[in-house]
Amino acid sequence: MTDIDFASARRRLVASLRAEGIIKSERVEKAMLSVPREEFLPNYLRLYAYEDTPLQVMYEQTISAPHMVAMMCELLDLRPGLRLLEVGTGTGYHSAVCAEAMERRGSIYTIEYYPGLALYAVQNLARLGYLDVVHVFIGDGSKGLPKYAPFDRVLVTAAAPELPPRLFEQLAPDGIMVIPIDEGFTQVLYVVTKDGNKPRMKPITYVAFVRMRYSNEK
Ligand code: SAH
Repeated sequence: MTDIDFASARRRLVASLRAEGIIKSERVEKAMLSVPREEFLPNYLRLYAYEDTPLQVMYEQTISAPHMVAMMCELLDLRPGLRLLEVGTGTGYHSAVCAEAMERRGSIYTIEYYPGLALYAVQNLARLGYLDVVHVFIGDGSKGLPKYAPFDRVLVTAAAPELPPRLFEQLAPDGIMVIPIDEGFTQVLYVVTKDGNKPRMKPITYVAFVRMRYSNEK
């Protein structure tokens, strides 16, 4: 495995995402170039780290495809100093890209449903020095983290059956949420903002995420 040139493969992938118009800003480009995706994968998958595809990791969960991570980061309009909530930590890769896009300044709170996956993410994030910025929690992220709200940004990386009311409540008045929502047999990625207490929902594209573990109790 040692003779794989991950750095060149990463540069090629980022260049093609830029050419396709998925990466639009220098901020997201830099972030995608800084985070080694191979470090968030078990050994047997490292070879595929720079294929633009989701990969199945443990507990039948996936690491999102690089283009999806880049697209969601662009939609979130990240900047230093923000408070970001991520629902669905998975491997920790997306948190790390967000941390870089925020220049490692600000706070990222990320919740994972499976304790084993949360532990895996913590190990990956610790090895790369992200734990000052990224705080990993175990639990049902559809309820958010009221103790740390409001959040300037909310990133949901598992598809929800509807806009989770608690996540919307915990979004700051001028905040931005990016979330995939079930729609019939497919899912649509939305950018959600606040119009007073009402959600303004902008559909972006069709997507395919793992389903969110969702409890609808208010
Ligand atoms: N962002 C991840 C990809 C996540 S895949 C990465 O970069 O690797 C979606 C993740 O959401 C899975 O790990 C899944 O276990 C988790 N998940 C599903 N429902 C959840 C819930 N209600 N709360 C927290 N995490 C949830």
